[in-house]
Amino acid sequence: MKISSDHWIPERPPYMLKPLKPIPAVATVSCLIDEENSCWIPETVNAFFDSKTAEYIMRIQISRHGGDFVRWPHTKHGLYTVRSAYNLVRAEGFFVERSRRGRGTSSAVANDEKHWKNIWKINAPGKMKIHLWRFAQDCLPSGVQMQRRQIPTSDACVFCGREEDVAHAMLLCQFAMEVWRLVKRKYMIQLQRHDLMSTKYWLFEFLANATELEATVLAVGCWYIWEARNDARNNRGHPDPTRTSVKILAYIDMIIQQCFKAKPSNRRETDVAPRWSPPPPGVVLVNSDVALFADCRQMAMGAVFRDSEGKCLAAASLPLQGFTSPEMGEALALRDAVMIARDKGFKNVIFVSDCLSLIQRLNSPAPDRSEVGSVVKDIKTLVAGFFSANFRHVKRCLNEVAHILAKTCNLASLGFISFSVPECIRKTLCIDVC
Ligand SMILES: [Zn+2]
Repeated sequence: MKISSDHWIPERPPYMLKPLKPIPAVATVSCLIDEENSCWIPETVNAFFDSKTAEYIMRIQISRHGGDFVRWPHTKHGLYTVRSAYNLVRAEGFFVERSRRGRGTSSAVANDEKHWKNIWKINAPGKMKIHLWRFAQDCLPSGVQMQRRQIPTSDACVFCGREEDVAHAMLLCQFAMEVWRLVKRKYMIQLQRHDLMSTKYWLFEFLANATELEATVLAVGCWYIWEARNDARNNRGHPDPTRTSVKILAYIDMIIQQCFKAKPSNRRETDVAPRWSPPPPGVVLVNSDVALFADCRQMAMGAVFRDSEGKCLAAASLPLQGFTSPEMGEALALRDAVMIARDKGFKNVIFVSDCLSLIQRLNSPAPDRSEVGSVVKDIKTLVAGFFSANFRHVKRCLNEVAHILAKTCNLASLGFISFSVPECIRKTLCIDVC
């Protein structure tokens, strides 16, 4: 449900909405709602709309039943989920819409618009971008904000007792500072906290100077710091800066790995020869494969572990027990690869296989009751001990190196796990990196 383009206020169709401040086209109604308390945020509503419109908005009842559900009595659907609204965030739509509507606005507003766009461009989930947007608009329920809303609560920071505004919660509090210090060990971002006069301009400035990765780090960091603060406020466990920073780093790794996937293009995949791409720094890429020897009814696995420079950290070629379906073979091969990665102490790993069905099972949160279900479960349990572990499908030609190791396995031996490059894959490894 978009604030500016959807008909969500019965008395005010979108063309009659004249917000007092520009609202990004993708901003959703959820930005105006305090989800925790299932109520409108009067400051935010009043900041954007004239008093009459604000009154109409506040009249709309937000249901407390069923968690995220909000009832919209005057829309076709009648039902609306806050969560689904997050999914509506589409940066592209925002660019098109704003560039069209941006014409004719004052230069200050147009300039702001340019900066707001930087939020929606961030490589992060919509909910994290909306969170940053609310941070910049100073409409997150901080202690200070709650007092302004006359909600009977303390404005003291739950961690240090100082007055809690959004800047304090996210950047200046000792808890936040410690989390950022830990995050900065891996991602050197400059928060320039001494420049902090207004959260909006601070964020504009930060994003204007940040690399794509730094913007992602900020969005993810702010999200988890805010979550930790909410947990502390609601007495849900003892937030710990280290744990929060680990969550942040793991989430960033996941985003990096997704961006590292080939960007979808208009051309069909078959039009372009796929190329091997290295994992991001600090991440190990593991190719695994199975070879089935039908004549002697045996199987073997092969796996190669490479770093961001394409350097081979380990290679394995091991016979597998029994003779099963190809998918089961792939699952057993990948499970062995996971165990080797664990034993070698690799903490951030991308496992790739050319078996699409297996990768889909591994990426599905649903319990798997298929033949390979038990192995899939084993793998999921094993990777829970990693900082980050992702499963990706690659075309067979990009998994060649693992396939060679599997098919050249000496079935009569115990196989090998080698830390030097086995001769049989030397050439293929070189082809991959050039
Ligand atoms: Zn504090």
